[in-house]
Amino acid sequence: MKNVPELYGSLVFNDKVMRDKLPKDMYKALRKTIENGTHLELDVANSVAVAMKEWAVEHGATHFTHWFQPMTGFTAEKHDSFITPIGDGEIIMDFSGKELIKGEPDASSFPSGGLRATFEARGYTAWDPTSPAFIKDRTLYIPTAFCSYSGEALDKKTPLLRSMEALSKEAVQLLHLIGKKDVSHVSTTVGPEQEYFLVDKDLYLQRKDLQFCGRTLIGSSAPKGQEMEDHYFGSLKPRVSSYMHDLDEALWKLGIPSKTKHNEVAPAQHELAPVFDTANVAVDHNQLTMEIMKKVAQKHNLVCLLHEKPFEGINGSGKHNNWSMITNTGANLLEPGKTPAENTQFLLFLAAVIQAVDDYADLMRLSVATAGNDHRLGANEAPPAIVSIFLGDQLTQILDSIENDTYFNTQRDVQMETGATVLPHFIKDTTDRNRTSPFAFTGNKFEFRMLGSSLSVAGPNIILNTAVAEVLSQFTKELSSAAPEEMESAIHNLLKTTIKNHKRIIFNGNGYTDEWVEEAKRRGLDNLVSTPEALPRFVSDKSIDLFTKHHIFTTEELHSRYEIMMENYEKTIHIEAKTMEEMVQKDFLPALLSYLEKVSSAALSKKAFLPQLSVSCEEQLVTKLSDSYAAITGGLEKLTADTQTAEALTDVLEASLYYRRTILKDMEELRSSVDAAERLIPDNYLPYPTYDKLLFSI
Ligand code: ADP
Ligand code: MG
Repeated sequence: MKNVPELYGSLVFNDKVMRDKLPKDMYKALRKTIENGTHLELDVANSVAVAMKEWAVEHGATHFTHWFQPMTGFTAEKHDSFITPIGDGEIIMDFSGKELIKGEPDASSFPSGGLRATFEARGYTAWDPTSPAFIKDRTLYIPTAFCSYSGEALDKKTPLLRSMEALSKEAVQLLHLIGKKDVSHVSTTVGPEQEYFLVDKDLYLQRKDLQFCGRTLIGSSAPKGQEMEDHYFGSLKPRVSSYMHDLDEALWKLGIPSKTKHNEVAPAQHELAPVFDTANVAVDHNQLTMEIMKKVAQKHNLVCLLHEKPFEGINGSGKHNNWSMITNTGANLLEPGKTPAENTQFLLFLAAVIQAVDDYADLMRLSVATAGNDHRLGANEAPPAIVSIFLGDQLTQILDSIENDTYFNTQRDVQMETGATVLPHFIKDTTDRNRTSPFAFTGNKFEFRMLGSSLSVAGPNIILNTAVAEVLSQFTKELSSAAPEEMESAIHNLLKTTIKNHKRIIFNGNGYTDEWVEEAKRRGLDNLVSTPEALPRFVSDKSIDLFTKHHIFTTEELHSRYEIMMENYEKTIHIEAKTMEEMVQKDFLPALLSYLEKVSSAALSKKAFLPQLSVSCEEQLVTKLSDSYAAITGGLEKLTADTQTAEALTDVLEASLYYRRTILKDMEELRSSVDAAERLIPDNYLPYPTYDKLLFSI
């Protein structure tokens, strides 16, 4: 490998390249746009376009694309070459400011929920100068937001940028009120830890379920699973290590700060974590990371599975969304301070996050709701579907002491200010790391752990940013009437009431127990166990009020997103049901039948040789196999009939609930008959590789 600092970001049009390539005044104007979001003049855009094109062509690029994130959760791109004919059969490589700022992809085939009628398929992409352009496969990629001509957001990035702005605005107002007048902007920071599985490509290609659904729909567990706990942080197998090496190199070239890699709990499961970045850059980087993970795997004859639950009986994959807020002056607002003033700031923002998560727990929950993730949440391997906050004992005690006006003084390094300042000094809690908590404070940031591995991290961050922005605006309203000399006691009172009203969301115990489910119910916390149960909250009055007030989504945009998410759920399970039918009908049953024939003929010949035997063990096996055959056929018929019923349902909510309650149950029952039969059949009769090969062959 080339020297890493040299390699890092070598395919990114980053600040250094801009400084080198742009005239000074143009560079300054662009920086101003990036930092303050000011309007970009066309002459600046033209100048940037020329510099970008020159740099891209030097690096072998022939095309450019506006790269965007439609509501599918994937990314989209359409490539145009730089070539422009100049007559006499000659061309030049050309790229204009107009082409840089705006693109007009045909929007009609992207999901739009109910919006299509209103925007008549006309949409445009707008350059996001705060996320750097890069080169991939000889194309210059320009990160963009995707909107309709009438202004509706058609993607995941537009609302994300809006939510970051909303949070910044509200946070700055509150900071000014408490005396931090030097702050003019607050960014949200995100560091997503990404889990994934690697399987051998030759094996993968023999399984329709992995190919069409990303997860196995049938398959009996291997004799060994994750019970020995020998994979987590285990030494890397050479093939995996070489994959990770190539992956890091590819990511580094794109300026993605991949930092940590290790084996995860389940066999064949791994994790990658980057250094955190501004939320929109982190979202772009995570989308790219997922794509590059899959691409690099191909080179190693591997397939990278990002599905939340590829295999029964072992852990699925999630994504931890580490999140905080940082001022333009460099202060992390969730960093516990050393002085009472810093602590005031920390406690205010901490309290705001606590209230936000409590007030909008249902939105947090639905932001991670997908068919795939439903297999994880609440299954004792991922956080439960009940949203709660882990703060750790020390911080919880401090909040208790604020609520009760008592002094907290049990630990040596924890001191209380006495007298006028009621806020305590404390140092950060480095102790407990509660893995069962959906939303945990980890020193100077929160970690939202409910995300599924394949999810775009945009959605959860849009919701978190907006909810926090809303509470900050309430705090500002509450405090703005206090005179300067009363500010301290006003803050104290605000903290006190916030803690009192929202402490029900704080839970430091084990989230996997039945007692917690009971306790959460007593506390009035939601337990939205599945996607169709969670999603309707997206279009509740409370949700509409929140998002329209902060100009994140219009009512129509919310409805369209709700429909898309619901349809996505339905379609996912529909594909799974059809794939399962096909695998069982066309592959598994014929295999079962041919083994049954083999055993039957063995039973017959035994009978001929040993007529004195009443029932031979071969005959017993014939009976078992034949019973299995009947059970599977029955299960298959039910699945087929119910799927037909589901296809006829037109209401998205009704259909989704039917898929959840009937189709998934049919699939589970069919799977259990198939898996029982699989255990009776030798591998060489089976039409697909089994779990032991998939999980232990690399
Ligand atoms: P863990 O023990 O959960 O792996 P780490 O301290 O290694 O925790 O951090 C995990 C992720 O959190 C990394 O991606 C890291 O960059 C990110 N992170 C650290 N600080 C912040 C922050 N202030 N805002 C957002 N993400 C952060
Ligand atoms: Mg973590």
